[in-house]
Amino acid sequence: MNKETKIGIIGGGIGGLTLALTLEHFGFSNYRIFEQAPAFKEIGAALSVWPNALRVYRKIGVYEQLIPYWGEIEAAYIKTSSGRVLSQVKPQYDLPAVCMHRADLHAVLLKNVPPDRLFPAHPLAEFRQEEKGAVVVNFEQQEQQTFDLLLGADGIHSRVRQQIIGDGTPIYRGYNIWRGVAALDVPQGYGSETWGRGARVGIVPIKGNSFGWWATLNEQEAESDEPEGTLRKLKRLFGGWHYPIPHLFDNSQNIIKNPLGDRLPRKGWSRGRVTLLGDAAHPTTPNLGQGACMAIEGAYLLSHCLHHYSAYEQAFAQYEKLHYPRTKEVIEQSLLNGRMGQLEHPLLVALRNGAVSLMPDKLSAKMLDKYFSYDVTAVEV
Ligand SMILES: Cc1cc2nc3c(=O)[nH]c(=O)nc-3n(C[C@H](O)[C@H](O)[C@H](O)COP(=O)(O)OP(=O)(O)OC[C@H]3O[C@@H](n4cnc5c(N)ncnc54)[C@H](O)[C@@H]3O)c2cc1C
Repeated sequence: MNKETKIGIIGGGIGGLTLALTLEHFGFSNYRIFEQAPAFKEIGAALSVWPNALRVYRKIGVYEQLIPYWGEIEAAYIKTSSGRVLSQVKPQYDLPAVCMHRADLHAVLLKNVPPDRLFPAHPLAEFRQEEKGAVVVNFEQQEQQTFDLLLGADGIHSRVRQQIIGDGTPIYRGYNIWRGVAALDVPQGYGSETWGRGARVGIVPIKGNSFGWWATLNEQEAESDEPEGTLRKLKRLFGGWHYPIPHLFDNSQNIIKNPLGDRLPRKGWSRGRVTLLGDAAHPTTPNLGQGACMAIEGAYLLSHCLHHYSAYEQAFAQYEKLHYPRTKEVIEQSLLNGRMGQLEHPLLVALRNGAVSLMPDKLSAKMLDKYFSYDVTAVEV
């Protein structure tokens, strides 16, 4: 495509910002990013960034800037609530498997985007495509703008998706998640997921003695923790689990809670001059820690396709053709992992734990290999 193509990006999350940087990498600089929030900012807790996504940041020159913010997962365990190890994986790739605070990753990406491309406080209202070949974008309480192409990176509740696919609200998968960051006295490089009955706790290293954690529980969508209170509830549920789990909650300054959902994989991400990226296209439950990684891979692929093809129709079609199968697999495997992890019946829990403890660690590592060893920067478009 012509490098002067005027591109609008809706959403300034990790997907939207990575897309801006990959577009720059391929020589497109006539773009604007519109974010609904009054400032470009991320909240939340830890995010795992696996080698498949880090390869994109290495290629576009952001990798080195991220190093000070991450902790490397040297060994990841699956344990029972009493601490018995069911399996152990040591990621060994050309690049590390890392975790960092979402806000740090977002801030590093933001620093690399020229400020005049950033438009905060611009919630997309709707868009329309004109026959003469332009996309007219309307914002709430802001001036209308016109683009050659519009890229929707506006997350799981995407408005752009509603105009393209229109599949309503995400599907709640039966469990909520609490997340926080705590200082812990455990070896750097420690990562674990601990399985109980209808409940799990995960721990990942961020940097120094800082660890990200999450805890899940089968319950009603967005069920309130009141009147018991979040801290007391978490201690009641997980206070008797193995070290260091009982120490997570008091040590965390902010604890956030969300329902977990996804959407069924759906083809047809593009309509005319508009396409989708990241959670807007392929939202997944976080049971593989690959949602943002897929957005990062997708950003590279979409930018590469726009660079390679002279017609946007071909670029969008090839982007979806290459990215859809991979994201479908992540969504489905992640959903399955979540179902296994959230099993509640004692017999099924015993069967699950027995099966996982019998599986050779090498096999567990091999099952993750297809996600981690993939190099989107080497894909021929
Ligand atoms: C609990 C949990 C843990 C996770 N852990 C991991 C992990 O460890 N590793 C991993 O890779 N992934 C993980 N994920 C998935 C990851 O968070 C998402 O896949 C990723 O954030 C998607 O990025 P995105 O930019 O597509 O969407 P988002 O991060 O949702 O960003 C969308 C942006 O668009 C903006 N926006 C929305 N609507 C509008 C509008 N109308 N107009 C303008 N702007 C708008 C939003 O304000 C937001 O800034 C996790 C998800 C959850 C829920």
